[in-house]
Amino acid sequence: MTYTEIKEKGEKKYYYRVKSIRKGEKVDKQRVYLGGNLKKQELHEKEHEADKKLLNIQEKKIEIKEIEASKNLGSLGSNKKSENNTGSSIKKLDISDKKITFNIDKNKDFSDWYTEIIQKAELADLRYNIKGFLVFQPWSVLSMEKMFKHMEEALQKKGHKPYWFPTLIPESNLKKESSHIKGFTPSVFWVTHGGETKLEEKYALRPTSETLFYQMFSLWIRSYKDLPFKTYQRANVFRYETSATRPFLRSREFHWIEAHCAHATQEDAMKQVHEDMETTKEVLHDIFGLPFIFFERPSWDKFPGAYRTFAADVLNPGGKLVQQPSTHIISQEFSKAFDVKFKDKDETEKYCWITCYGPAISRIFASIIAVHGDNKGLKFPWKIAPIQIIIIPIGNDEKITQEANKIKKQLENNNISVDIDNSDKRLGEKFYFWEMKGVPIRLELGKRELDKNEITIYRRDTNNKETIKINDLFNYIEKTSIDIDKNLTKEADKLFDNNLIDVKTKQEIKDVIEQGKIARCGFCSVDKEGEACAEVIEKETGAQVRGTKLEEKLDKNLPKCAICNKKANHIVYVARQY
Ligand SMILES: [Zn+2]
Repeated sequence: MTYTEIKEKGEKKYYYRVKSIRKGEKVDKQRVYLGGNLKKQELHEKEHEADKKLLNIQEKKIEIKEIEASKNLGSLGSNKKSENNTGSSIKKLDISDKKITFNIDKNKDFSDWYTEIIQKAELADLRYNIKGFLVFQPWSVLSMEKMFKHMEEALQKKGHKPYWFPTLIPESNLKKESSHIKGFTPSVFWVTHGGETKLEEKYALRPTSETLFYQMFSLWIRSYKDLPFKTYQRANVFRYETSATRPFLRSREFHWIEAHCAHATQEDAMKQVHEDMETTKEVLHDIFGLPFIFFERPSWDKFPGAYRTFAADVLNPGGKLVQQPSTHIISQEFSKAFDVKFKDKDETEKYCWITCYGPAISRIFASIIAVHGDNKGLKFPWKIAPIQIIIIPIGNDEKITQEANKIKKQLENNNISVDIDNSDKRLGEKFYFWEMKGVPIRLELGKRELDKNEITIYRRDTNNKETIKINDLFNYIEKTSIDIDKNLTKEADKLFDNNLIDVKTKQEIKDVIEQGKIARCGFCSVDKEGEACAEVIEKETGAQVRGTKLEEKLDKNLPKCAICNKKANHIVYVARQY
């Protein structure tokens, strides 16, 4: 109910009131007389009219107060809790606001927050009837399409050529390199039949595509002049994950890019690792706003078939690291198995050094949701927002509709993704809805503004509103879109601040891990000899040795292995992982 009933001389008078924005304001300023002795249906209609009318004359500070009210709700914890809460701040919001308001404390209740926002924002439908497979919905696909575009552009700029390889891999290909097949066998989906006929050889649904690419590399690469040979494909891959799946983060089918390159020397392969690290920074950090640390993995944690493995770890709220793109220098056993060789300048035949790099877009999307979102829902960086601007016309005025359409067209002509919300939801609902969806900019266009040739702009990242001249809109957006990304990245970078702690003992590692932070310590060896110490850490703290930072020197203050007390040959980072 959004009306007040007042009895006067036997007549029931109804006044429409705007809830949650009354506090501190004169009530009569914000109520509208609906009529006397109204029937239920009439009352409902009048109420609806008043709603629209009020929105037209509403002052901007009133709208800001609505947002403030939703912020206050944040302190009450999860949705479930707030529905049971009979506290006064709940009473101030009407039912429709409560339904539409997303309100889970991300830092306290990350797991709930993550599961809820995926469904509420319609990123994925989890009800498909094969475990670990999900239906990606438009709100995630639109964003991931943009993510693919940025990643592919970065790769192409650096000389990678795009390919589309088949989805099926003959078992014999997979078996050619023993550690690779050993590592992947438990997670392969096999195709065994064509129609009713049992196939002579079974085919794997690609879990990753080394054994397809290198099969063809052996046919394509002839001379040192062909090197480096740089390829990539955009594909979906299938892995029969046996550990718990989580939407986007660990599914049985995911969408990724895999880049495969062949080089003449190990040094050239290492240069490629650095280039991949640079690409990761350019795209993941500078465009997607995700901070990461690039590690070399210890020998026991390498990719099956890799000589050296490097990976970017992104920190999730809650202190767990998520492995994002990894780069591998593939073991030369691979080039031998697939006969990938070239004739060098000195006329001798040599085996190639191969590298592969795998940014999993759907998994990176999980980090974007997790890192940027807040208690109100998603927050998209400008360049990868499914919709960058939502226009909300206030009131049913023909002039306003025309102007909204005109603005939409102009923005679209400038390559901005924009939509108009013409639904008959209430204004407050529209605000909450698009804030929950994470749209970076909202434009509010009402009659009062239009009369002055003005428009009101709301920024999701800062929660601020301002009014500008419509003529200045395009310049404003050009500037603000850069600000939004800078601001989101700056906020995200803070995740790592004060979270890397130097430690000297097992107990200290334990304490740091329990606080959801990352321990940095001296360590005996990242080769086989050190594995026992890593096992002690895993067993006693539940955390893993993530590896060494590329080119980080030893630290005089951490001279010994935190576990076995032998001389430290490395500085390693220890954290829990997803
Ligand atoms: Zn040790």
